[in-house]
Amino acid sequence: MAAKSQPNIPKAKSLDGVTNDRTASQGQWGRAWEVDWFSLASVIFLLLFAPFIVYYFIMACDQYSCALTGPVVDIVTGHARLSDIWAKTPPITRKAAQLYTLWVTFQVLLYTSLPDFCHKFLPGYVGGIQEGAVTPAGVVNKYQINGLQAWLLTHLLWFANAHLLSWFSPTIIFDNWIPLLWCANILGYAVSTFAMVKGYFFPTSARDCKFTGNFFYNYMMGIEFNPRIGKWFDFKLFFNGRPGIVAWTLINLSFAAKQRELHSHVTNAMAIYVIDFFWNETWYLKTIDICHDHFGWYLGWGDCVWLPYLYTLQGLYLVYHPVQLSTPHAVGVLLLGLVGYYIFRVANHQKDLFRRTDGRCLIWGRKPKVIECSYTSADGQRHHSKLLVSGFWGVARHFNYVGDLMGSLAYCLACGGGHLLPYFYIIYMAILLTHRCLRDEHRCASKYGRDWERYTAAVPYRLLPGIF
Ligand code: NDP
Repeated sequence: MAAKSQPNIPKAKSLDGVTNDRTASQGQWGRAWEVDWFSLASVIFLLLFAPFIVYYFIMACDQYSCALTGPVVDIVTGHARLSDIWAKTPPITRKAAQLYTLWVTFQVLLYTSLPDFCHKFLPGYVGGIQEGAVTPAGVVNKYQINGLQAWLLTHLLWFANAHLLSWFSPTIIFDNWIPLLWCANILGYAVSTFAMVKGYFFPTSARDCKFTGNFFYNYMMGIEFNPRIGKWFDFKLFFNGRPGIVAWTLINLSFAAKQRELHSHVTNAMAIYVIDFFWNETWYLKTIDICHDHFGWYLGWGDCVWLPYLYTLQGLYLVYHPVQLSTPHAVGVLLLGLVGYYIFRVANHQKDLFRRTDGRCLIWGRKPKVIECSYTSADGQRHHSKLLVSGFWGVARHFNYVGDLMGSLAYCLACGGGHLLPYFYIIYMAILLTHRCLRDEHRCASKYGRDWERYTAAVPYRLLPGIF
């Protein structure tokens, strides 16, 4: 979202002693302090319509076998009224409420009460207590990284239930999908509202709070940077990882079980991305979600509703339309997905390795090219950092997003060409990542000033060399 940084920022001295007026960020590289009309209009649009967009997609599957135009055509031609569609929508049920409460409580317990043991025996896995990045106010938070463990235990229990215990049917998520949507919305709104109140009255780190003076913008984009309850319950890490991403594979497993029940075969390609997220959860501490975004409705509601409901549309679609791909189509999709995943993983790894070793590493077998840079946090501390100009970070400034987009397209293509609905994911990801790219560059330009200009001169394209 377009945003203005705080005006009248004092000039800062860079490490080499040269005054750098564009680096004069004094810790103001984070979220906006002032909101322009376009940002405000986008925020109000999303607050009003995003819940209906989710409802529309899920209802179209439930009532129109995933034909996106079905409800509109029926209403326009007089075959159905909005009240008819609403009357056919399952309401919230006691069973769904109990299920959802149990699920969230179980994830809270796994997150807060079980220190990580995976890092003790999995070679190469970084878990346990890890540090996040320096916040604009100069704070470094500590995190308990145990997402892989939570994911493994949750899935172990899922498979134990499916094959041994039979406590519940593996189709339970699919069977309660719309009643659970209401529960997810209740949690999403509750947590966003709580985060807003907490930001005003009892913030975790008051110096990292931002107030724009606009209620809607504050509600959506958040006030607190890293809200916490107690020492360890971090809202961003929990809500993105647990109700959001642990659920991702479980939901697809439940859809797969339903597919098996209805059509006696299964299609699924989501798991690699999810396991990758938890294997690299420490790396997540250095991503834009944690280093830039404040915790508001965008992350709170988004993690509870948008992510689990819209990122799994392909799986839901396949329950209604079991697609049998031809061998060349399947091989093409698999190759696209694998190449995309390779770029995504290697690009993210290159940056992570480079930052962890302070540039003392090899990228594509060579000593990396570096741009030295510096910035100031709000406590006046001068910090030193480096930008990588080698590997994928020398090809384009966000080539990791290209890999992600290729993988996303592969998930969609696995659903064949019968309907538009499963392609929502790639359309959304293209918009999200292009917007994120612009947002990140705005932030980096405010943070690093002329040093960032040196990087953009050395690597002129954002996503695709020669194009954008
Ligand atoms: P990045 O991992 O690209 O991180 C951007 C940050 O990295 C910048 O703010 C800057 O931070 C630092 N940086 C930028 N350029 C360089 C460089 N040349 N050398 C060293 N550091 C640099 O962005 P995200 O956090 O958005 O994404 C992480 C991954 O998550 C991506 O692969 C993305 O595709 C994926 N993703 C997936 C989403 C989904 O919904 N499926 C949503 C969003 C992201 P600093 O201040 O530290 O310098």
